[in-house]
Amino acid sequence: MAQPDRAYFDWNATAPLRAEAREAMLKALEMQGNASSVHAEGRRARAVVEQARAEVAALVGAQPAQVTFTSGATEANTLALTPAIEADGRRLIGDQLLVSAIEHPSVLNGGRFERVERLAVTADGLIDRQSLGERLNKAEHPLVSVMLANNETGVVQPVREVADRVHAAGGLLHIDAAQGPGRIDCNINALGADLMTLSAHKFGGPQGVGALIRRSDIHIADQVLKGGGQERGLRAGTEAVAAIAGFGAAARAARLGRDAEAKRMESLRNRLESGLLAATPDAVIFGARAPRLPNTTLVARPGLNAETAIIAFDLNGIAVSSGSACSSGKVTPSHVLEAMGHNLCAKSAIRISLGPKTTENDIEKLLEAWLKVAGRVSTLVLKTPDKALFGERGPYGGPKRTFVGDQNEPTITD
Ligand code: PLP
Repeated sequence: MAQPDRAYFDWNATAPLRAEAREAMLKALEMQGNASSVHAEGRRARAVVEQARAEVAALVGAQPAQVTFTSGATEANTLALTPAIEADGRRLIGDQLLVSAIEHPSVLNGGRFERVERLAVTADGLIDRQSLGERLNKAEHPLVSVMLANNETGVVQPVREVADRVHAAGGLLHIDAAQGPGRIDCNINALGADLMTLSAHKFGGPQGVGALIRRSDIHIADQVLKGGGQERGLRAGTEAVAAIAGFGAAARAARLGRDAEAKRMESLRNRLESGLLAATPDAVIFGARAPRLPNTTLVARPGLNAETAIIAFDLNGIAVSSGSACSSGKVTPSHVLEAMGHNLCAKSAIRISLGPKTTENDIEKLLEAWLKVAGRVSTLVLKTPDKALFGERGPYGGPKRTFVGDQNEPTITD
């Protein structure tokens, strides 16, 4: 339940449960069958699971048989990233995995591949086409994994173009689409992806459930969880019926509400960004020149310490996060910003992510707090010219800045 005195801006970490999902889960929790049992109770549980599967399939323009439920995106990524991908009993790819350098750690670590190579991204957070081309030229039937939208910057990748290039090189494309639903179109066919990962809790479903969607002719011959024959033998373990029911209901709500929700979030996000830049003209919004999710802003003011800023926002009733989700409770430099070449800002970026329930009041509250928290940062002389970010005219048209020396952290001069 949302707290009236709090403003929640961490929807990319997890979105509050949608009312539809909660209702579906409560109903399912009242049931008592195992979805694999043949009796009436089991059949009722099975019907709930299959209805949810149809909703998840509809969300991405797939057929229900293409959907495998997992415990979330982390497991779906691990399931997808294996050399044991087959069609008609024939191995489709070699033993090489190419991943973009800004992927979620569950992709970056390469799943079940032994050889993982990273693809560079540009200063705007988009896949570097030259790096992709060079790697594809050298690789033999690689599996390529590129996220649909980045969880920190919100930058949306040109997935269709990447898919065409990967297919032309004889490879397959997996996309981690965890941040897409309810925000942008996630049609697997239009995107040209062969495998796609989803996570329910990023768009109002419960935590602990997700899915891998496969092209219908693709088979994964190597399960992560081995045991019973659930999920057509691909993912053993009794289906979490209530969680899956919530996932299905959230998928339906996200599909039907997306256009209106995305438009509203984008207009609030634009108001937020113009307010941030008006208050602190030297603030930097990462990926602002690239296509982005309508709900995400990653902002830094040089010299701001994200770790202390997040605590200060929290004391002001506002939940934001650092660019990198801090699974250990500690803010670490963002590997995404580092990959984009913005090392200087990797510890000072604040991620503000909105959702369908964000209000204009929330935005005003955040802007007030921003002035208190980030407006205090002293003027800096930057020793490292972070050229991609701070050009001659400053970040994205901001004031002109002076750079001195090189290779050092920023120094506070007053
Ligand atoms: N992939 C992306 C892009 C994410 O943002 C997240 C969320 O942290 C994950 C994967 C992991 O999702 P899950 O919590 O469902 O394992």
